Amino acid sequence: MSRVMMRCPYNWTQEIFTGIDIPRKGALAGFGNKVVECPICKNHHYLRRLYFEGDPVTPAETDVYALDVAYGFAGEVGVLISVMALIEDYLAMLLAKLTGADGNDARITMGTFYNFSHRVDLLEHLAQQESKDSELRKDILSFVKKIREANNARVKYAHAKYSVGAELKVHVEPFYGDARKKKKTIVMAVDDVARDVELVKAVSRELHGFLYRGERPKR
Ligand SMILES: [Zn+2]
Repeated sequence: MSRVMMRCPYNWTQEIFTGIDIPRKGALAGFGNKVVECPICKNHHYLRRLYFEGDPVTPAETDVYALDVAYGFAGEVGVLISVMALIEDYLAMLLAKLTGADGNDARITMGTFYNFSHRVDLLEHLAQQESKDSELRKDILSFVKKIREANNARVKYAHAKYSVGAELKVHVEPFYGDARKKKKTIVMAVDDVARDVELVKAVSRELHGFLYRGERPKR
C-alpha cells in the first residue's frame, strides 16, 4: 500500500497526506469530491493533483492558482457561468416568440453571433419594431435589461485576474486585460459571489416562467 499525497494549495511547498492508502497500481482518480482537513493551513481542500508518497513531484502537482485555493469561490463562479448558458438558450426562444421563427431557425440566427451582447442587441432592436403598446414588446425589453445585468455579472468574473488574501478573501480585478477599462480591485468573500449567482438565477427563473408557463416578467 502507498500513501496518496498532495500539496497544500495555500502553501504548495508543503506536502500533506490525503488519508488515502491504496496499492501503487491503483488509479489516482475518482477522489475529486473528497476533502481533507489540512494540517498546514487548517482549511479543507478537495483532493487534487495527487501523487504517491516518494514519487517525483512536477509542476503539474505544485502549480497552484488563486481559485485553486478559494475552491468555494471557484465553484460559485462555475455555477454562475452554467446558469448563463441556460439564459443563452432562452435568448433564442425569446427570438422565436418575438418573430414567430421556428425554434431551430432562431437558435441558428442567435448562434451566428459570437458576442453575447450582440445577441441581446438583436433582440432589443427587433422588440423595438413592435408597436409601443404591445405587451410582448414591453416584456422582451424588460428581459433585455435583466439579461444585460446578468451578463455584466458574468463578464466581471470571466475576464478577471484573481488573487487570494487574508481569510481566503479573493481579490478580483475585473477586465484585467482590457485596456479600455479602469483598473480596480474588489475584495470579495464567497457570499458576495453567491449574491451575484442569485441575481443570475432569478433572471433565469423569470425567463423560464415566461417561456414555459406564460408568466409575465416583473417590471
Ligand atoms: Zn492547506
